[in-house]
Amino acid sequence: MARKRPKLIKERVPTPERPVGERVKDFGEVNLGYTFELAVKEAERCLQCPAEYAPCIKGCPVHINIPAFIGKLVEHRDDPDKAVEEALRIIWNDNILPAITGRVCPQEDQCEGVCVVGKVGTAVNIGKLERFVADYARERGIDRKLCESELKRVEPIGARVAVVGAGPAGLTCASELAKLGYDVTIYEALHEPGGVLAYGIPGFRLPREVLNCELDRMKELGVDVKTNYIVGRTVTIEDLLNEYDAVFIGTGAGTPKLLNIPGILLDRIYSANEFLTRINLMKAYKFPEYDTPIAVGKKVIVIGAGNTAMDAARSALRLGCDVTIAYRRGREDMSARIEEIEHAEEEGVKFEFFLTPVEFIGDENGKVKAVKFEKMKPLDERDSRGKRKIVGTGEYVTLEAETVIIAIGLEPNRILLEESGFKAKADGTLVVDENLMTSIPGVFAGGDAIRGEATVILAMGDGKRAAKAIHEYVQAKRIS
Ligand code: FAD
Ligand code: SF4
Ligand code: SF4
Repeated sequence: MARKRPKLIKERVPTPERPVGERVKDFGEVNLGYTFELAVKEAERCLQCPAEYAPCIKGCPVHINIPAFIGKLVEHRDDPDKAVEEALRIIWNDNILPAITGRVCPQEDQCEGVCVVGKVGTAVNIGKLERFVADYARERGIDRKLCESELKRVEPIGARVAVVGAGPAGLTCASELAKLGYDVTIYEALHEPGGVLAYGIPGFRLPREVLNCELDRMKELGVDVKTNYIVGRTVTIEDLLNEYDAVFIGTGAGTPKLLNIPGILLDRIYSANEFLTRINLMKAYKFPEYDTPIAVGKKVIVIGAGNTAMDAARSALRLGCDVTIAYRRGREDMSARIEEIEHAEEEGVKFEFFLTPVEFIGDENGKVKAVKFEKMKPLDERDSRGKRKIVGTGEYVTLEAETVIIAIGLEPNRILLEESGFKAKADGTLVVDENLMTSIPGVFAGGDAIRGEATVILAMGDGKRAAKAIHEYVQAKRIS
């Protein structure tokens, strides 16, 4: 039964969070998520815009039917299990990793950024509702039950696909193809699948048990994941094409951009990727219980202003450091999710704006001890991304630092380009056609490997689109 048109409630229901003093001491999750009662209260704020118009659906890169899944929480408020099962079924039509996207999507730029309630108050908390549905379903085994009925594999169709890279693009492509009856093998360079979700995003934002549960679902679909396989070294694209009907490349953009300034080779200057990988994948904060150490001094400077910079800064803070983020532009141009910036501030990370590093200064042992910055001045003019242009002022400031973490961007690694001669742009991103096929017939690509550093949900959207294109390609090849 359709519910009555809801009345407008301007302010969102807040999600409980762990107190700052407690959470900065460990890597446990910060946001505790909604209870069923709070989720229903928040769901009641959704005005149930008709699906053909709802701006939030258009704002979501994979076009989840948002009003429909939110509506189920209110419709079955007297039967939480049924409410969640029906909501999850709707979400899974378009997104198989809602516990992850509900946590890490930049909702303010996507679904929530265009929600009509946001024009008069705060947007409906779509991300946290999506996360609630996924978490409740996982905790009560509803997702397993639904998996058996909704995601079960169809009869094998006798076709094989190799997926390179086990990040969100590769995992999504693999699961979509498995659902169509393909025999899918993922080749992953690292010793654990997940891509950035495993080695980049820390547990205080995305707990390992949440990620592992989503990864287990892939395995239940029959996808075979081979870790410690560097395609381009351990096996070549040619080898894969000889063995499989098609190949998908989801190798991401994991090579850090570094600063070409004096002192860059000093000790204790890390790329954010190395720093985060040591912490997330190698559990360096538990050294010597785990093998890999991480050497940090008390004063840490993080250079950059995206999600990677926030993750590195907040991780360093949890190692007991005094952390400052230095950014060459102003606050409004920071690209990190707003929630992460707010959490970083609450936790005590300091921010210094309009500073560009020009030199790292070392001590007599070759360790960094300070960073020299030029002060920048904002102009009224904006660049192609809408950010304010900046110019140097000729004035300098030096900040003490025993550790520096550089988080100024990432680009694809070039192993596959060197090995297979794909057509690529100057930044190393692969060139693809409208069906996501690369310059090598039968080899498709998506995610950060074609976009440069982007988002989880865009990578997943590519994985899904590529799976459809691969299916059409393989069917056509069989007929011809
Ligand atoms: P990746 O996740 O990079 O996965 C690629 C996988 O391919 C990796 O596992 C890699 O080991 C493997 N691989 C690479 N080369 C080879 C090879 N030759 N052979 C075999 N395997 C290979 N996005 C958001 O939406 N929200 C966030 O909050 C957010 N936070 C982020 C925080 C950090 C620290 C970083 C680094 C990124 C963040 N992003 C965020 C961006 C997001 O994680 C990426 O856009 C997304 O993971 C891209 O997915 P992908 O599958 O294309 O690549
Ligand atoms: Fe919003 Fe991301 Fe969920 Fe889409 S997948 S509804 S953009 S949180
Ligand atoms: Fe609900 Fe906002 Fe989407 Fe309208 S735009 S359906 S109010 S979430």
